[in-house]
Amino acid sequence: MACVSAFPAGSLSILSPVTSLGSEALAGLPADLAQLLSAPPVTEKKLLELRVTWSGLPALEAMMAEALRMFVLTWDPLETHVPRPAAMAAVNTGSLGLEIAVHIPIWRLNGLAAARHEPIATTLTAIAGSAVVTAARHKQEVIAGRYPSLVVDHSVPDLLADLSAGAALGSATISADPPSWDDIGLGAIQDVIQHAFGPVDLDRSQVELGALSRGQSGCPACAGKRFGFPADLAESQHSMCAAHRKQADAVIKERLARAERSNPDGWGALTDATIRRELPHLPNGLATGLAGASEAMYVVPEPAELAERARLVVEAAAWFSGRGRDFGVALGEDPEYGPDIPDWLMNLILDLGRAGLTNEALSVAEALARVEPKLQSVTDADLGVALAQAGRGDEARAQIAANLRAWPDDFWVRVHAGDALETLGDLDGARAHFAAARDMAVHPADFEERAAAAERLLSLSRKERLAGGGPKAQRIQRAGKVSRSKRRRGR
Ligand SMILES: [Zn+2]
Repeated sequence: MACVSAFPAGSLSILSPVTSLGSEALAGLPADLAQLLSAPPVTEKKLLELRVTWSGLPALEAMMAEALRMFVLTWDPLETHVPRPAAMAAVNTGSLGLEIAVHIPIWRLNGLAAARHEPIATTLTAIAGSAVVTAARHKQEVIAGRYPSLVVDHSVPDLLADLSAGAALGSATISADPPSWDDIGLGAIQDVIQHAFGPVDLDRSQVELGALSRGQSGCPACAGKRFGFPADLAESQHSMCAAHRKQADAVIKERLARAERSNPDGWGALTDATIRRELPHLPNGLATGLAGASEAMYVVPEPAELAERARLVVEAAAWFSGRGRDFGVALGEDPEYGPDIPDWLMNLILDLGRAGLTNEALSVAEALARVEPKLQSVTDADLGVALAQAGRGDEARAQIAANLRAWPDDFWVRVHAGDALETLGDLDGARAHFAAARDMAVHPADFEERAAAAERLLSLSRKERLAGGGPKAQRIQRAGKVSRSKRRRGR
C-alpha cells in the first residue's frame, strides 16, 4: 500500500458530512462545479473529471501539469482493502502519451478539506500540485513509465505525498470538464489498482482482426472495423463470421492471460472490482469503515469499536430501505448464492447487548427491520435478549411481551424470550418458554430447532444444579446463535 501516510494520520474521519457543503467549503469553485460537488450521485458509481491549470509554471512542471487528469469518485474500487489512502495517483504511458491520473473519493475530499480547515478548491489544488511537483522531481522515472512499480516498492514517494509543495505551486483554476458526472470505467479502476498493486499489463489498444480472402457480409471484422478492448470486442463477437469470432477469442484469451501473468494480485483485484462495479455499493466509503466486520464472528470487538460499527450500519442501512437483497450484496454477500444479511450483522444486536450498548442495539434493530421487514421477528427477539444482557430488566420484559403478542407461533421468538429471562435470573420463566419452543418444533425437518430448545433446557437444569454458571450461559448463547445462522443458510 503506497500512500497510507500521504496525509496526516488521525486527521481524517472515514466519514464526513457529504451533502451539507457550505458556501465556505465551495469558495473559489465555479458555480457549475460547486453544484456538481454539492449533490454527488453517491449511490451510483460515477466520476467527475476536473481540469486544474496554473499560469506561469516552469517548463518541467508545466509539462507534468499538462499530463495531469484529476477525478472525483463516488466509489472506491478498492473500498474493502483497508486502510485506504485519501487519494490515489497512477502514471500511464504509451501511445496516447504521458498521463498522470489522480483520483479522490468525494467523502475523502470533503473530509480532508474539513480537516485542513480550508475550501475544497484549496485541497484539490494542493493534491494536484503535489502530483505535478513530485512528478517533475522524478521526471525520468515518470516519463519512462517506471514510476508505478517503484512507488509500490517505496523506492520513490507517492505522487500525492507532498501537499505543502503542491500548495506552494500557487493557486490554480479548477473547472469540471465535462460539466457532468460520468460512469466509472475500466480506466479509472485500473488507475486505482495500479496505485495499490503496481501496473497490470492489460493491453487495451484497439484490435484489428486479420482480413479474410473472402469476406462475409454483416461481419464487422470483415468490413474492416477496429474494436475497442475488452468491451467492444467481446460485445461485437456475436455478429462476426465464424473465422473472426475465433480470432477474437484468441486475442481476448491472450491479452487476459498476459495481464494476469504480469501482476496476479493486481489482476485479481481488477477483476473483482470489475464485477463489483455492476453491483450495489454502500455510499460514502461506508464499506471501508465496515471492512473486517465479519471477523466479529470469531473475536468480539471492544465496546467502542462495536458502537462505531453500529453507527456505520445504521447510516448504511438508511440507504437501503426495503432493499435487503441489495444491502446484503453491498456488504459483500455473494449475489449468486442466496444473498442475505451477513452473519456478523445478524449477531450485532446480541453483541451490542452483551457490551451494554442497548441504545445502539435498538437503533440497529430498527434499521435492519426497515431494510428487511421480514427480519423483524428476529431482530425484535434479539433485542429482548440484548436488553436483558445489558441489565435493563423491565424493558427486556416489555420487549418479550410485545414479541410474543406479535409472533406467538415463532420458534425463535419463543427461544429468545427464554434466553432473556434466563439472563434475568428467571429460570422458571425461561424453562416454560424453552419447553413451549420445543413443542413447536414437531415437524421432522425441525431437527435443529428441537435440538436448540433441548440444549437450552438441559443447560438450564445443569445450571440450577450448579447454582451459578455465568460463563456457561455465555457459551450456550453462542451455540444458539450459530444454529440459527445455519437454519437461515439452509433455505
Ligand atoms: Zn469476418
